[in-house]
Amino acid sequence: MYDIIIIGAGTAGLTAAIYACRANKSVLVLEKTAHGGQIINTHKIENYPAAPHISGPEFANKLYTQATELGAEIAFEKVKKIIPKKQLFEITTPENTYTAKTVIIATGSAERHLELEHEDSLVGHGVSYCATCDGNFFKGKDVAVNGGGNTAFWDALYLADLAKTVTIIHRRNTFRADAALVKKVKAKKNVKFITGVSVTALVPEKGKLKSIQLSSTKTLNVAGLFVAIGRAPDTAAFEGLVELDDEDYIKSDETCTTSKPGIFVAGDNRKKPLHQLVTAAADGAVAATAAIKYLNQERTK
Ligand code: NAP
Repeated sequence: MYDIIIIGAGTAGLTAAIYACRANKSVLVLEKTAHGGQIINTHKIENYPAAPHISGPEFANKLYTQATELGAEIAFEKVKKIIPKKQLFEITTPENTYTAKTVIIATGSAERHLELEHEDSLVGHGVSYCATCDGNFFKGKDVAVNGGGNTAFWDALYLADLAKTVTIIHRRNTFRADAALVKKVKAKKNVKFITGVSVTALVPEKGKLKSIQLSSTKTLNVAGLFVAIGRAPDTAAFEGLVELDDEDYIKSDETCTTSKPGIFVAGDNRKKPLHQLVTAAADGAVAATAAIKYLNQERTK
């Protein structure tokens, strides 16, 4: 039995673990893949206060060490279900069943896909959702990045130093990405822009991406397409347990408390105005503090 089980070892989950351990609570973090979450795909973090130029993997490793040194246990298991049992929660993974007094859901979000024919089979053969992971395979080649947000522009900046050309394709004529970042990307001589169009088809040849078709009817020959069109919350396993909004984000108040007493939420799976590293960390602290308060109140009942 744990005081707090945290689902997800990204920035929100590991920060929650740090706060919970420092309050002397027993903590288990369950993570389906690797610790660090979304930030491990980030080449360089420039906007986390007092830590300029740190890489995503370095940030994630420091956070992991900090949480485990404080006493957080981590198991790499995928949570299938949370079943409320009286005042407790039973959490099942393919390997084990755990019991907790409180739960913090910090499952983050997953990349949005284009939902085009051949997209799945071309992953690893021209289609990618992570420039930092796969950029190296496209040295000296022509690539495209789809999207107009910060991820797309960071991807373009990273790829511009590797690829022959990078074409940013965006469905509107204005960008969501920060102005300073847009300026940096526009200064790169090998980056081109095609705006006001969508990617409508992926054309494979011998199992690899050969070209992409655009809504303008233009065909672009590229060896790689980096899809950076945003993310969707990873909350399917919690439907029916906590209230979700119409975009599947978990509803919560400003203390990160969900509709289900004893269950809290932190990070990119929570509805809020700004999904950033700094707000993920802040959520972890707030959710853990709310869970600690809940546990301490339960004890005095
Ligand atoms: P985002 O800001 O939501 O941008 C997604 C982009 O994809 C938008 O330009 C959107 O177009 C486009 N898009 C969405 N659905 C599409 C579709 N079906 N087809 C074509 N285009 C589509 O997502 P993000 O760039 O991944 O960023 C997510 C969050 O992380 C943001 O808050 C961002 O600021 C933050 N982030 C920050 C940094 C940093 O270093 N500061 C780095 C990466 C991410 P519209 O604009 O037309 O909607």
